[in-house]
Amino acid sequence: MTGHKRTKLLATLGPASARPEVLDAMIAAGLDAVRLNFSHGTHEAHAANFAMVRAAAARAGRPIAILQDLQGPKIRIGKVKDGGIDVPTGSTLTITTHELEGDAGRVSTTYAALPRDVRPGLRILLDEGRLCVEVREIHGEDVVCDVIDGGRLSSNKGLSVPGATLTAAAMTDRDRDDARFGLGLGVDLVALSFVRRASDVTDLRQLMTSLGRVVPIIAKIEKPQAIENLDEIVAVADGVMVARGDLGVEVSLEMIPAHQKHIIARANRAGKLVITATQMLESMTDNPIPTRAEVTDVANAILDGSDAVMLSGETAVGKYPVETVRRMAAIARTTEETLYPFGERVRDAVEPGAPGSTSRDDFACVAAHLAASATHEIDVAAIVCLTRTGRTAMLLSDERPRAPIVALTADPSVQRWLALYWGVVPHLTDQLPDLPRLLAWAAAALPAAGLAGPGDTVVSVLGGDTAPGATHSVRIATLGAEP
Ligand code: PEP
Repeated sequence: MTGHKRTKLLATLGPASARPEVLDAMIAAGLDAVRLNFSHGTHEAHAANFAMVRAAAARAGRPIAILQDLQGPKIRIGKVKDGGIDVPTGSTLTITTHELEGDAGRVSTTYAALPRDVRPGLRILLDEGRLCVEVREIHGEDVVCDVIDGGRLSSNKGLSVPGATLTAAAMTDRDRDDARFGLGLGVDLVALSFVRRASDVTDLRQLMTSLGRVVPIIAKIEKPQAIENLDEIVAVADGVMVARGDLGVEVSLEMIPAHQKHIIARANRAGKLVITATQMLESMTDNPIPTRAEVTDVANAILDGSDAVMLSGETAVGKYPVETVRRMAAIARTTEETLYPFGERVRDAVEPGAPGSTSRDDFACVAAHLAASATHEIDVAAIVCLTRTGRTAMLLSDERPRAPIVALTADPSVQRWLALYWGVVPHLTDQLPDLPRLLAWAAAALPAAGLAGPGDTVVSVLGGDTAPGATHSVRIATLGAEP
């Protein structure tokens, strides 16, 4: 196997990394995709960062996917006096939907339905669970609470109610506005926060359709309801994110490993993209070396079956954004070289006649499976595939073959978002060639990319998505020996 890293790295852009020289260094260190976090920042700042990433990708000559992360219905408290207040344990705190500047006895919330959605005895968590209050009584727009775990509370911190089904819509007006803006800018994928059911995802896709630009949607799994409805969400989303930050607030921390493994396995079986996120190398926000536990966590997320692993504060506001990406890439490479269970994917069988399945889909799955199988039987330097929609490359990726998947597409957006899929090395072409021309391209391009040399074995795959009515074909060939 070559030294190419298969696991993809996604980093959140922020003040620490939104600089051309830092981006160049992060891309050189192994970065594949960037997250623009729309919970923070203005449209102008995101537009400038977007252009900066595209420019850095062009300098590097590599496709870098840009993921727009929509805030979703994150519930927050309002402003408090002097930016921060002390809320003592044992005191009373009223959370009100009335707009006011908060103090130690009373804070406001942006969520108008809070008094209707909670009941006495429920616990409300503030600031990612750092503070905990219990609802005592509800009067009109006021929710009166006993402070169980007090502490310092600053303006606009998050508020969550793990035991309640909140009635907020998954997409707020702000999200719609942000999505419109991001799609206009040209983002390659969109992530939606606080998804609870499949319709949250299909609503976003409908919005994209009405705006005339549909890109892959990543459903962030961070609510207990999303875990309950995981099958239906995975079925309609293009991918999922194990959003461990908010998941750790909404469910108990001890359940995160079980949920992570379950979400990843479900996505793998459905052939969907899966990203594991949050606190992966958290200590590198302040230190140049991660903890042993963090290194092990990243490796385990890769072994669980993640396509991509994500950095958040480490690259957005950390002191060592480049070192963090370099370290994550090293963990990925070493884990792939030592422990990786290549080929051990189990995909749901496509049921003949099931909604959304066609016999052409079955053919594509079988072709991908055959090509991947070859990499376990003989020494294959690379799989080369043609893909118009990205589907053939995605199916190959899901098989976790031993050889890198070189995907040739004529669509620049497909080329960029394929950069997030495990093992895929996407290339752009003017026009999708036929099989002989694909092999001729491979004979020139693979040695240049350091992926294979003359005499190496390559497996080529033509997907059914290549052209209307195209046959699926899998061919094993010696590089440079084809007529
Ligand atoms: C998370 O909660 O883990 C997450 C990825 O979301 P965000 O960083 O947007 O809070």
